Amino acid sequence: MKPDITIIGAGLVGALTATLLAQRGFAVTVFERRPDPRIHGFIGGRSINLALAERGWHGLRVAGLQKRIEPIAVMMRGRMVHHADGHTELLRYGRDDSQVIWSVSRGTLNMVLLDAAEQAGARIHFGQRLDAVDWENSTMELCDDAGNARTQSWTTLIGADGAGSALRMAMAAHSGLGERFEPLQHGYKELEIPARDGGGFAMESNALHIWPRGNYMCIALPNAQGSFTVTLFMPNRSSSNQGNPGFDTVRTSADAQALFARDFADVLPLIPELEKDFADNPTGILGTLYLDRWHLRGRALLIGDAAHAIVPFHGQGMNCGFEDAVELAELLHNAANDTQAVFAQFQHRRKPNADAIAAMALENYVEMRDSVADAHFLLMRALERTLAARHPSRFVPRYWMVTFSRLPYSVAFERGEIQSAILRELTAGKTSLDQVDLAFADRLVDERLEPLTS
Ligand SMILES: Cc1cc2nc3c(=O)[nH]c(=O)nc-3n(C[C@H](O)[C@H](O)[C@H](O)COP(=O)(O)OP(=O)(O)OC[C@H]3O[C@@H](n4cnc5c(N)ncnc54)[C@H](O)[C@@H]3O)c2cc1C
Repeated sequence: MKPDITIIGAGLVGALTATLLAQRGFAVTVFERRPDPRIHGFIGGRSINLALAERGWHGLRVAGLQKRIEPIAVMMRGRMVHHADGHTELLRYGRDDSQVIWSVSRGTLNMVLLDAAEQAGARIHFGQRLDAVDWENSTMELCDDAGNARTQSWTTLIGADGAGSALRMAMAAHSGLGERFEPLQHGYKELEIPARDGGGFAMESNALHIWPRGNYMCIALPNAQGSFTVTLFMPNRSSSNQGNPGFDTVRTSADAQALFARDFADVLPLIPELEKDFADNPTGILGTLYLDRWHLRGRALLIGDAAHAIVPFHGQGMNCGFEDAVELAELLHNAANDTQAVFAQFQHRRKPNADAIAAMALENYVEMRDSVADAHFLLMRALERTLAARHPSRFVPRYWMVTFSRLPYSVAFERGEIQSAILRELTAGKTSLDQVDLAFADRLVDERLEPLTS
């Protein structure tokens, strides 16, 4: 007997999970707080994009959706670094164009997933916010846009309702989940570079642009229609390690204009609505969510950001959530009558990986905003590529394992630590690659890294 599944949240992870479960014969009902974006447009109406990597593509492939997303995805070959002196350089992510990431519109991706979920048989109810759960009677309270509350029964609940999950709150009220949220102390603001008059991109389209400035940075990802979504990351107002500049000191549109004129001068003429965007768009907060427990026996389970929200600097939150969706669908398909065992198994398999990508995402912030402009960092990256070419089965750069493979994040993290120690040891006191003793490097790699089997 397959249990009826009720999913809270029809965002990226909820909609993919609904699709995969409905495709496997589960009766799936979804409740989403927002109105249907296919009818009412996406909230905010701004073009926000995300980096899609191999783990995310895999989820889409399993759902049969790869061909629907490919036409809207823009290839990003690497980081286009905009240095403070105005020169730019492309730091490739991978070996060649077979190792790239893709920029996709969050709104379009979500709408494709909603269509797919409904086509697979899931029933999605929009404008229905989960407010409370009655665990004793297996009912929940939903509230519509007009404020009307109603009671709905359920059999098995899956919480895909994001970082501020209402289901998580209801589960925690029943029995503690060991929740810890670590705020980043840095926030973000989204801005836009429109397409050129008559169409076309205002900068190199096949790259993720970065303006690293030490304690703060800007990035820009291309959109299929020719625009770029720009995100400014800086210390928060409430941050204890208040930085200058930060949202403390850059408060008004005029402050933002002055900051860009000083630190991001090459991009300033490309953002005609900078002052308006800065004033109108909210300042987002970031942080990492850790839970000791993701499930309530066999009755309720959290997935995606609801279970493990992370900072966005590895571009992996959605990718990781899509891995959750695939893993959960497989586990439920194989043992549908024992949700208690499935949920425990799901957490056992996924939590070490969620913890690993959370740590790597935090580390990547420092790399993006600071290290990419540092000569020693670039030497380590050059050596990393040399060792990857000399030992393709043993030395695989961590970024490649995370982004271009589906090796467990925890394995990428552990091997990454060993590799990083090797790189530090070999480059200590060196300024160029030809000073590195490659025969010694080969010995270290052979001694410390087992060959990867997949
Ligand atoms: C600035 C930024 C950049 C990012 N860039 C990337 C990237 O490049 N690549 C990447 O992989 N990830 C990225 N991420 C992370 C990614 O956005 C998230 O990991 C992903 O959206 C998580 O999906 P989700 O479905 O779990 O949650 P969400 O996308 O938050 O969806 C939750 C859904 O639940 C609904 N909901 C909420 N509360 C209720 C309720 N009470 N009742 C009913 N419905 C409810 C919401 O309306 C929403 O539709 C980024 C995140 C940020 C903040």
